[in-house]
Amino acid sequence: MKETMQKIMEFRDERGWKPYHTPENLAKSISIEAAELLECFQWDHSFDQEHVCEELADVLIYCLQMVDVLEVDAKEIIFSKLEKNAMKYPVQK
Ligand SMILES: [Mg+2]
Repeated sequence: MKETMQKIMEFRDERGWKPYHTPENLAKSISIEAAELLECFQWDHSFDQEHVCEELADVLIYCLQMVDVLEVDAKEIIFSKLEKNAMKYPVQK
């Protein structure tokens, strides 16, 4: 994860994009890329795996950039939310 974060931030910083990466802009970008991911499945059930992976990567990259800007730990917030989800959706249900 550390290497991945470093690579993403390096790409962003080399281009001077950090000032544009506000939480609001990143949330918009995550949503836009999620729509592009959904577009891969428009009209039928077949899909291009390579295209899906590219759009999925775009979503993940923006999510990790938001993690960086919010100064939170991705693993911590995922584990915390999984705990909440486990209470909301117990295995017995
Ligand atoms: Mg895209």
